[in-house]
Amino acid sequence: MSLIKAKIVIVPLGEVDMAMVNRLAGSLGNIFNRGVDILKGMRMPPEAYSETRSQYYARVILTKLERVKANSRETVIGVCEEDLYLPKEHFVLGYADDLAGTAVVSLFHFRSEFYGLPEDDSKVYPRLYKEVIRQMATLYAVKPCQNPSCINYDSDDMIDIDNKGTRLCDICLRQLQQVHAV
Ligand SMILES: [Zn+2]
Repeated sequence: MSLIKAKIVIVPLGEVDMAMVNRLAGSLGNIFNRGVDILKGMRMPPEAYSETRSQYYARVILTKLERVKANSRETVIGVCEEDLYLPKEHFVLGYADDLAGTAVVSLFHFRSEFYGLPEDDSKVYPRLYKEVIRQMATLYAVKPCQNPSCINYDSDDMIDIDNKGTRLCDICLRQLQQVHAV
């Protein structure tokens, strides 16, 4: 096994807010103790778009993201503005495939305009950060958490996301350390 830890690769998808992506790259590495690269942007795959739902199928996006992996141990995170779905869900904030090591997170529901409220940038980035950590926890085999103050708390509710903390609880941290010795 290489002594150099596999990187986290962030892929901006479509017309996405690069200030958010850059900020994410600056903070993700610390929590998982890995290097972070931002890849050249990729367009939203048209074949993932559902005309009837006006949303993108998250699973199709993950198959595209898997192709950019330089090696099997890399984790790839796509960030987009468009609304995402899975067949049995009205929408998803993010979605991860732990076997493939890929995840995608959408800013769509994090933006206050979505709720008819004025834009509040101070809320958008923390929501993105928390959701990306939650999806990455899945990639690193950390189970969804029931502690409402843990960043890995398993909720899609915007109030819950705003209220939870920015760190992994002791239980989640222990799982991460056991599996990956960070
Ligand atoms: Zn936890």
